[in-house]
Amino acid sequence: MSFPDLKDRPLKDTICLFDVDETLTKARQSVKPEMLDLLLRLRQKCAIGYVGGSDLLKQQEQLGTPSIPVTTLFDFCFPENGLTAFRLGQPLTSTSFIQHLGQEKYQKLAKFCLRYISELEGLPAMTGTFIEFRNGMINVSPVGRNASKAQRDEFNAWDDKNNCRAKFVETLQKEFADLGLTFSIGGQISFDVFPTGWDKTYCLRHVENEKNVSGIEYKNIHFFGDKWFEGGNDHEIYEDPRTIGHAVRDPEHTMELVKELFQLPRQMAQLSDLPIEVLEIILQHLYISFIYTHDRSFFAVMEALPEGQAIGERLFYDTPDTSQWTVKERQWRPLDLEFAKRRHRYWASVWGMNWGLQEYTRVKRRSYERGRLWWQDGRR
Ligand SMILES: [Mg+2]
Repeated sequence: MSFPDLKDRPLKDTICLFDVDETLTKARQSVKPEMLDLLLRLRQKCAIGYVGGSDLLKQQEQLGTPSIPVTTLFDFCFPENGLTAFRLGQPLTSTSFIQHLGQEKYQKLAKFCLRYISELEGLPAMTGTFIEFRNGMINVSPVGRNASKAQRDEFNAWDDKNNCRAKFVETLQKEFADLGLTFSIGGQISFDVFPTGWDKTYCLRHVENEKNVSGIEYKNIHFFGDKWFEGGNDHEIYEDPRTIGHAVRDPEHTMELVKELFQLPRQMAQLSDLPIEVLEIILQHLYISFIYTHDRSFFAVMEALPEGQAIGERLFYDTPDTSQWTVKERQWRPLDLEFAKRRHRYWASVWGMNWGLQEYTRVKRRSYERGRLWWQDGRR
C-alpha cells in the first residue's frame, strides 16, 4: 500500500495521534478492520500516529498481524509514550529510565525502596518482585508483583486502611526531591516512578522534531484519547497547549469523530471501491493468509464481504484481463459473478465473526474448504 509522502499529503501540517486501548481498540483487544480502513484513508490526507503506554510488542499484537508490522500502519509509532519511537517504519533514538537517571542514582533509589519495604510492619503478605524494572519507569510494590489475586485484594484492603502506598510515596518525594521524579499510584498493589514529563507528552518532541527532519512543522496536532480526565494517562497530552484534544468514549466514537473532522465518508467504503492493496491489509487482519496473487485477492474479497452487502459488480468488471491472472500453487477458477451470487450468503458470514485468535483456524479452514469447493465447481 502506498501513501503520499508526508509533505505531499493534502493536510501536510496536520497529524492525528491516537491512544490505543479504548481509542483504537477495545481494551487489550485487536483492532477492527473498519478502524484500519478508516486509518488507511485518513493517512492519505494527513500524518497519523499512535501513542501508547505499553511496549511495541503489545501494540503489534493489538494493531498488527503476524505478517504486518504495526510500524508500517502508521507514520509515527510511539510505544512507551514515545520513549521508543518509529518514523515511517524506522526506529528513532530511544531512551530509558536508567539512561536518564544513571546507575548510581538508580541504585540509591532502589536500595532505599527495598529497605523501606523490609521495615514495613503489618504487611498481610510478602511475595517476590518488589521492584519491577521497566524501560521507562520502575514499578514498586510492597507486597510484591508475584502476589496472587487473593493476596492482591488483601493488600489493597490493608492499604486502604493504612495508606501504606501514599506514605511510601511521600517519603520518597522528600528523600529524592532532587531527581525530578513523578510518582503515580495505580492499580491494586503498586506505584510507578518515572521522570517528570515522561507521560504521553513525551512523544511530542518527536513530532516537533519533524521540522528538522523533513521540514514539516505540525501546526495541528490532534490527539484522541479515552483517559483524558485528571488522573488518566491521556490527561497531560489532552490538556497540552500544543495539541487539540478529543475526548472519546470508545473506538466507535473515535471513528465517528475522525469521519466528521476529516470529512471521510460515513459509510465504510464498499470493498469493491478499495484499491487492492488496502484490501490486502484489511484482509490480512482477518488472518486470511493466501491473498498474494491477483486472482486470489479476489477470492479473499469474496470471503470478507460484509453481511448483507451485494458483491461489488464493478470489482469484477474492472478486472483487466483474466488471462493475466497468475497462480502460483493452485489454479483457481476465475470468478464467475453468477457463481459468486449463489455463494454470497455463505461467504458473507465470515465478516460477522469475531476477530480473535480462536477464529483464526475456523476462518482459515473454512476458506480452504471453500477453496476446494470452488475448484471442484470449476472443473465440472
Ligand atoms: Mg486508553
